[in-house]
Amino acid sequence: IDHINQAIENKTTHFSFELLPPRKGNSIYKVFNTIDMLKEFDPKYINITSHCDEVIFSESANGTFQKKLTNKRPGTVAVAAAIKNKYKLTVVPHVICQGFTPEETENALIDLNFLGITDLLLLRGDSSPRHGFIPIEGEHKYAIDLINQVNQINKGEYLDGTQTEAFDSPFSFGVAGYPEKHEEAPNLDSDIYHLKKKVDAGADYIVTQMFFDNQKFFEFEKKIREAGITVPLIPGIKPISALSQLNLLPQVFKVDIPEALAAEVRKCKTNEQVKELGTEWGIHQSKELIKHGVPSLHFYTLMASNCVRDIAKAIY
Ligand code: FAD
Repeated sequence: IDHINQAIENKTTHFSFELLPPRKGNSIYKVFNTIDMLKEFDPKYINITSHCDEVIFSESANGTFQKKLTNKRPGTVAVAAAIKNKYKLTVVPHVICQGFTPEETENALIDLNFLGITDLLLLRGDSSPRHGFIPIEGEHKYAIDLINQVNQINKGEYLDGTQTEAFDSPFSFGVAGYPEKHEEAPNLDSDIYHLKKKVDAGADYIVTQMFFDNQKFFEFEKKIREAGITVPLIPGIKPISALSQLNLLPQVFKVDIPEALAAEVRKCKTNEQVKELGTEWGIHQSKELIKHGVPSLHFYTLMASNCVRDIAKAIY
């Protein structure tokens, strides 16, 4: 199979859709229903997120943190395999540092290789709203550490020091980028410096955090090109789909909602009206990005599959 950067290299703009594994594994049919709704738009690949969404920390006497994980959304690998099997689509499971030891990650990579799933998105993982990101002992601290692990296993090098032949189909991977800067980065230049390290370590492409003002994307693109990053930059689009998201999205994802959009959302009386507005805004954003020549549009479907379908319908 083509890797993602090959799959998206021609003159037209492609689509990818990002789905969440159902909470506590209930049920794969929710995922299938979303794909049934979106598959007519010929997605080049489907992303499946990975989560460790409730983290409880307790501080021990010596000041180190113990992390207890609850309520995971299990099955990123299984959901990816089920989609690949049923729809014959390219799948891109996310692999995260947060909540997984390198040994657990190695096991997941072995399973993925065995299943013939070789395109990954490598991430650090969301930080806890209460505590920020605190790696447990031995856990990777940054996405670059995970990239190094994947590069090692591609060469057939395992954590226990054993060595096999290099993988026939090595993993290829993308990474995350932040047009409005990652929340923990002191400034955008520093964030781009670390982004370049991820690309230099082998990332084939970058998918951005959601943004609602295309200008932010264009400025970011200019800055990363000036910094010498040449891989494809794929914009992430999330249609606003509920009144509550006006506060929630900036809070959780540290992104700005432009006043022109916020003012219109405030006028909405129901979530249905917000969805219509979010769809309209998404169509406008997508059209402008396509005109700009982006290689692909990455849609976050979370709580907005219908909006994403309507946007795709309008621009397909
Ligand atoms: P990193 O690249 O490790 O960067 C994290 C921060 O550390 C940045 O501020 C960076 O500038 C800084 N930094 C990086 N390397 C170093 C270094 N060596 N020294 C000092 N500072 C450094 N989260 C999930 O939990 N599950 C998902 O499935 C998921 N999917 C996502 C998909 C996309 C497209 C995007 C954009 C984000 C996704 N996230 C997901 C969120 C992501 O995990 C968080 O934003 C996380 O806080 C950062 O991840 P990262 O891979 O960008 O981290």
